[in-house]
Amino acid sequence: MKNTKRWAANVRKVTPYVPGEQPQGTDILKLNTNENPYPPSPGVYESHRKLDVSRFSLYPELSARSLVENLAQYHGISEKEVFVGVGSDDVLSMSFLTFFNSGKPVLFPDVTYSFYPVWAEVYQIPYECQPLKEDFTMDAADYEKENGGIVIANPNAPTSIGLCTAAIEQIVRANPEVVVIIDEAYVDFGGESVLPLIHKYDNLLVTRTYSKSRSMAGMRIGYAVGCEELIQALNDVKESVNSYTMTTESIVLGAASLKDEAYFQDCIAKIVQTRERARDSLISLGFDVKESQTNFLFASHESIPARQIFERLREKGIYVRYFDKERISNYLRITVGTDEQMRRFLDETAQIVSEK
Ligand SMILES: *Cc1c(COP(=O)(O)O)cnc(C)c1O
Repeated sequence: MKNTKRWAANVRKVTPYVPGEQPQGTDILKLNTNENPYPPSPGVYESHRKLDVSRFSLYPELSARSLVENLAQYHGISEKEVFVGVGSDDVLSMSFLTFFNSGKPVLFPDVTYSFYPVWAEVYQIPYECQPLKEDFTMDAADYEKENGGIVIANPNAPTSIGLCTAAIEQIVRANPEVVVIIDEAYVDFGGESVLPLIHKYDNLLVTRTYSKSRSMAGMRIGYAVGCEELIQALNDVKESVNSYTMTTESIVLGAASLKDEAYFQDCIAKIVQTRERARDSLISLGFDVKESQTNFLFASHESIPARQIFERLREKGIYVRYFDKERISNYLRITVGTDEQMRRFLDETAQIVSEK
């Protein structure tokens, strides 16, 4: 519908990011948004039970202080090197707003997290996509040109492929005049983290999330780590937009999650094992499956179009992610669930393949 309102010319125009579907229902198998199939840690349940609801009448702690302290301690860094936000989407959005102001194009791969171009558009930041190689791996040399900042998901989504520390370090070192953001949303599932490099490079910002490896997507917790000056700049901008973003509940439960390291590692180990078994099964069904360092698989069948498999699975109540986009329109992104969930997915997929 054409907007004929007289104020229409003054409206900021943007095409929003499209998240995966959130279907409701009992027999639905949701493997489309990379959520963790396991519950949050026992300590999170415990803290939730003890939460003093009367505190909700007060504003949350300034700068989510106790969560910042716990994260700093967890990573062995200073509190001044940690910024927290409402999911890493909030943290990344604030980072675009804070650091990408040169007027020069921001660089990121052509196949990556599809929120990056959306933030660039909404904040009116010019950007330029660097094509990944044919096999979806990245060439660090593509990032050694004039630019206004760089953002790289490592491991990358939706390809599931990770880049080694040396390659990331090469990019960070080649670009001392801009901020390089490394989005480590999936790093806990087997990627190489560059978090320790924040003490070596003052232009490196690393972002993390509780939504995948910490089974807390619904709590909306994300954070960034970087040198003190980067974090200060982020806090200044954030506090110019909205001082109190994180709730009292997410601050308390976010801190509690960090206390259960054994549980955390155990869930990750299970997902990694399930991932490797599911990958083998998909390969034997005729899929090409990228080697994954994440909690999802990126797969393409040798003869059946991805869209067709996606639609057939959906009819059976199984939701995977399909992107109708150049280069990746014949791939499916499948979140790794529990062994039982993957058995159902693989049985139904085998059925679809055998119908051909
Ligand atoms: C899931 C995801 C995020 C954002 O997660 P939040 O739920 O907002 O913390 C950021 N980057 C990538 C690459 C992701 O896949």
